[in-house]
Amino acid sequence: MKPKKPCKHPGCPGLTSGKYCEEHEALHRGDRATSTGRGYDSRWRRARSRFLKAHPLCVRCQEQGRLVKASVVDHIVPHRGDEKLFWDESNWQALCKNCHDSKTMTEDRYQEYRY
Ligand SMILES: [Zn+2]
Ligand SMILES: [Zn+2]
Repeated sequence: MKPKKPCKHPGCPGLTSGKYCEEHEALHRGDRATSTGRGYDSRWRRARSRFLKAHPLCVRCQEQGRLVKASVVDHIVPHRGDEKLFWDESNWQALCKNCHDSKTMTEDRYQEYRY
């Protein structure tokens, strides 16, 4: 049996055989989940700039014969938090800011993830 040590969380009187008492163990696991969330964000930024390099022109403007540089990767089918839809590149389209804004105003009135 290992001797119990005080919880590493500052000011916590709890004893533990690990690093933190049960309560703070859960808390610190939660911290790691948050940093994973940040990784997701940078993964999207990388994927987005790669996609815009491959699709540099706004597809909507192109349909009307205009050549406008795209700056937004839009989800054709709104993902609404669905990871599979979110990362499905066949569901992505390059849009300029104008087209994206007017699409957001006319088509999807539900909450969109903004990056
Ligand atoms: Zn503790
Ligand atoms: Zn456009």
